[in-house]
Amino acid sequence: MVSLAGKIWRTGLATEAIGADSGAVSSVARAIEARTRELLGRSLAIREVDAGSCNGCEIEITALSNPVYDCERFGIRLVASPRHADMLLVTGPVTRNMEVPLRKTWEATPEPKLVVAVGDCARTCGVFKGSYAIAGSVDQVIPVDVFIDGCPPEPEEILRGILQALDRLRPHR
Ligand code: SF4
Repeated sequence: MVSLAGKIWRTGLATEAIGADSGAVSSVARAIEARTRELLGRSLAIREVDAGSCNGCEIEITALSNPVYDCERFGIRLVASPRHADMLLVTGPVTRNMEVPLRKTWEATPEPKLVVAVGDCARTCGVFKGSYAIAGSVDQVIPVDVFIDGCPPEPEEILRGILQALDRLRPHR
């Protein structure tokens, strides 16, 4: 125990400091919170669908919930079921195996639903283009509201894409 405490003391902080732009991330997340309350009167529920990504985009999406970004404090929640979701975040080129599940997920999401395609692969199939295993880009399988470019896009860009998609909805009240 004493040696462990000594090692922690000698090592010091091993993580990077939060970037100077963390305030910009918070301001986009706050804008999403305000827009969601205006449109839905509650928090935003997002179902993430990996349609065939390399998981690089998932790492960035998962970062939205980590202690640095902590987007749940702004009412941005990842949910397990499309039936509870307002928005789908879809990553990767759509593989042949995921073509039907992606379409069924979209059909199971209640209206008004939004689809945000995350990453270059979602728009163009990226490095996987031409593979025998690929059915196509996300918009070749389901309607897409917003594309977010990048390989992978950073959390701030993902939040900006979410906000852009929300701007396509009209208030229901
Ligand atoms: S856009 Fe890049 S990080 Fe995202 S799934 Fe494609 S190769 Fe991976």
